[in-house]
Amino acid sequence: MKPFDFDIPKFYGVNNTKLTIGVFCSSSEFIEETYKIQTALLGKLLANNQYDLIHGGGKVGLMGILAQSVQKHGGKVTGILPESLNLQGIASETDDEIIITKDMSDRKNEIRKRSHGFIVLPGGYGTLEEFFETITLIQLNYTHKPLVLLNINGYYDILIDFINTAIQKKFILEEHRNLFHTCTSCEEAIDYLNKQLKI
Ligand code: AMP
Repeated sequence: MKPFDFDIPKFYGVNNTKLTIGVFCSSSEFIEETYKIQTALLGKLLANNQYDLIHGGGKVGLMGILAQSVQKHGGKVTGILPESLNLQGIASETDDEIIITKDMSDRKNEIRKRSHGFIVLPGGYGTLEEFFETITLIQLNYTHKPLVLLNINGYYDILIDFINTAIQKKFILEEHRNLFHTCTSCEEAIDYLNKQLKI
C-alpha cells in the first residue's frame, strides 16, 4: 500500500542529506532533574548523529532543554507553533526557524510532514495526544515513519502495561503491537533510528 506521506525533498531540497527527527515532550518546568539530564543527552546524540530537530517550538520544559542541546552540538532546530501559542514566555526565541500555523491540527500536520522519524519523551496530555495520534496514523497507513517511545526512568511503564492489557483484551490487535518501538535509553533510541533511516 502506498503511504500518504508528503515528499520530503519538497521541503528539504534533494541535496540536503540531513534527516530531521520530530520530538514530542513535556512543557512542564516542574519535573525531576533526571528527565532534564536525559533530554539534554538526547539533544547531543541527535546532533552528533547528524539529525536536525523539529519540535513544538516552546521554550518551556523539556522542549526548551532539547532545542538548546541540539543547537549547542551543531544541529538545526525548527519550531512549529500555532498562532495561539506564539506568545512571549512560551514561544522559543532561539530556534533557527519558527513556523507559525493556523491551529493545532495544522501544526501537527507540519511536524509530521517535515520529520523523517519521531521520538516521544516523557510528557503529559499534549505529548500523549501526539504519541497516540502518530500511532493511529501508522496503524491506518497514513505514514510509515519510525516512532520511538523513550521510556526514561520507567515513566511509561504503566502506559506500556495498559497497552498490553488492551492487546490481551483484543481492543488493540496483536499485529499492531509493534507500531512503535520502545527504548529505555537515548543511545538505544538513536541506534534504532539510525538502523531504520540510514541503512
Ligand atoms: P505536555 O506533554 O502536555 O506538556 O505538552 C507538550 C506537547 O504539546 C509538546 O510536544 C508540544 O508539541 C505541545 N505543547 C504543549 N504546550 C506547549 C507550549 N506551551 N508551547 C509549545 N508546545 C506546547
